Amino acid sequence: MIYLDYHATTSMDNRVLQEMYPYFMDIYANASSPHCFGEEAMVAVEIARERVASLINANPEQIFFCSGATEANNIALIGKIRRDNVDDPKLIISPVEHSSILAAADAMVAGAEMLTGGYIDIAKDGTIDIKDIKEAIEIEPNIISIMFANNEMGAIYDIKTISKMCQERDIFFHTDATQAIGRVDIDVKELDVDALSLSAHKIYGPKGVGALYLKNHIDVLPLIHGGYQNTISSGTLNVPAIVGLGKACELLVDNIDERKRIEDLRNYLLKLLQDKIPDIQINGSMQNRLCNNLNISICNVPAEAIIMGMDDVIVSGGSACKSGNHKPSHVLLAMGVDNPECAIRFGLGRWTTKEEIEYAAEKIAEIALSIKES
Ligand code: PMP
Repeated sequence: MIYLDYHATTSMDNRVLQEMYPYFMDIYANASSPHCFGEEAMVAVEIARERVASLINANPEQIFFCSGATEANNIALIGKIRRDNVDDPKLIISPVEHSSILAAADAMVAGAEMLTGGYIDIAKDGTIDIKDIKEAIEIEPNIISIMFANNEMGAIYDIKTISKMCQERDIFFHTDATQAIGRVDIDVKELDVDALSLSAHKIYGPKGVGALYLKNHIDVLPLIHGGYQNTISSGTLNVPAIVGLGKACELLVDNIDERKRIEDLRNYLLKLLQDKIPDIQINGSMQNRLCNNLNISICNVPAEAIIMGMDDVIVSGGSACKSGNHKPSHVLLAMGVDNPECAIRFGLGRWTTKEEIEYAAEKIAEIALSIKES
């Protein structure tokens, strides 16, 4: 099977699994138990915290483990609004954010007029005009949240500039870096963001674990209470998963060669598809794009026919969170892409090979041409 859906999730790196294993079977203590066995587990948690922090140039005490980027995004948005304790919270987000940001924002400002004015415009090529951020700042929102990179059409946003503008006006800025981590250099000190979310299963780590970076943890209130192990998220720490996240982050350090190899393969895939199939439209700009992302539409060929027509090549028509839901992707709709139902998303990864790309392009061309000719 050829897996080209690395934005939805990645398989685990075996080195991550090996690192996690002892924390299921041998050092299974509760990390907050005061005995020496618990301390051993806590040492592993702290090593993981250091590894995550080191990847994004944070201080370890600024890293808060949670169940993934969905939770991290919810804590950042809802936790900040709760901390501010205002009657009419103002949030500014982009319409191409992950559903966890869209839904958290909605929950906070449900029914409020503000949300209608709370979206930043997205251009047809997926880009954001910095002037729009400037205007948004004028309404003095409690929080601005713009994703680092998009999970469908791969746009990488100018987080440094946006963050600087927010800091100048003392506005809390959060970025969802779930797709960017390991694919873009991220230095939270240089970017000066207030909060950043990440998830292990997009970087060859386990599912169900992630982290929220907080410049100042007192900026947000926890959403879940009762645990005492973590000031931001509660409950017994998932030590094996946290260890896995730490190892996955460590494996991303100095990975420029890996990124370049994946980007070359992505460009090769595009070239093969363009050579074989007429009328290919690229969704999103090819500049400032994730090295592993490609999103194209083949005119008059519904993505579903391609996806369902292949049993050995895995690609996606929208984000995985939308599977089973045949509504066009909110990202492509926000961009005003023509024929969003024809959009195919490719996500390449650590184990993608040239041979796989050639096979996938051949197979897709075969199906697309047969549909076009029928
Ligand atoms: N944000 C983005 C941009 C994502 O792609 C995803 C995963 N689809 C998430 C958040 C949610 O991450 P998790 O699965 O860890 O909750």
